[in-house]
Amino acid sequence: MQRYRECNLCPRHCGVDRVAGRIGFCGESAVCRIASVGPHFGEEPCFSGTHGSGNIFFSGCSSQCFFCQNYQISIEHQGRAVNDEELYDIAHKLIHAGVHNINFVTPDHFWPHVERLCRRLRAEGEDLPFLFNSSGLQDPTLIPLYAEYMDIFLPDFKFADAELAFACTRYRRYPEISLDAVRLMVAAKGFLEPWDPDNGVIAKRGVLVRHLVLPGYVPNSLDVLKLLRAEFGPLLPLSVMSQFQPVERCIERKHLDRSLTSEEYRRVCDTVEELGFRNVFLQPYSGDPDFLPDFERDEPFAGNTKHRQQSVS
Ligand code: SF4
Repeated sequence: MQRYRECNLCPRHCGVDRVAGRIGFCGESAVCRIASVGPHFGEEPCFSGTHGSGNIFFSGCSSQCFFCQNYQISIEHQGRAVNDEELYDIAHKLIHAGVHNINFVTPDHFWPHVERLCRRLRAEGEDLPFLFNSSGLQDPTLIPLYAEYMDIFLPDFKFADAELAFACTRYRRYPEISLDAVRLMVAAKGFLEPWDPDNGVIAKRGVLVRHLVLPGYVPNSLDVLKLLRAEFGPLLPLSVMSQFQPVERCIERKHLDRSLTSEEYRRVCDTVEELGFRNVFLQPYSGDPDFLPDFERDEPFAGNTKHRQQSVS
């Protein structure tokens, strides 16, 4: 629990004592809270496979992007408290359900809990991949520690434009900090492998970078792609997402208050091709609406319910 005492678990370095109940920018104390758990079929096919990715969605988030598609849990903090034993039971149920991996979604601000869980599962011989699924705002100095436990890193890389980063997260250094973090992730685990998306082969290890294209900000996306290409070359595994939908805060702020157009997404996809990226997941334009979550429901993703129904029938 010491890491929660003067919290520096993300680059914001709030320094608050979360054990004493204080909360920093992520909005969470040292009581681990989760919002949803279950086999998830909305990740890239190399993670979801046929049995689902074992997602554990944590409440709160250090990025606090106002447009977050998971805002009910990241910003509004829906969720319930769990202790170590409950977290262990949750992971065990997922493993027994046959998921292909345990997918920790925004785990950085609850890292001490996640680390204890991973250590215990590994000590018991569980060998399925552990996946660190994050906003990209990671403290680079913590990546080597994460890498001791995680097999796969799935970071977002949202902003090359520092002013846009500041407008969305109140953190101007997102581009440089995120790039540093991804560098260390790649150094620790390499690129995602095996890479065989056409045949639905499940990934075991490595890094896949995600980028969500934001409406009105194609230049930001093109700069993200150029940065990544210059740093990691054309073989970096990428997932370029079109699924953005404006949430209530976007409408209130009159910022990012519309969907992406097909022309915007096409321009970004054209640049992916021009830059020669070879290992890329693209989405159908505007994504799959069945995987836009509503965490008020027991099963937040209609797509997961449909998948289960189809499996039964
Ligand atoms: S994890 Fe939360 S409390 Fe800790 S430094 Fe980051 S935002 Fe602040």
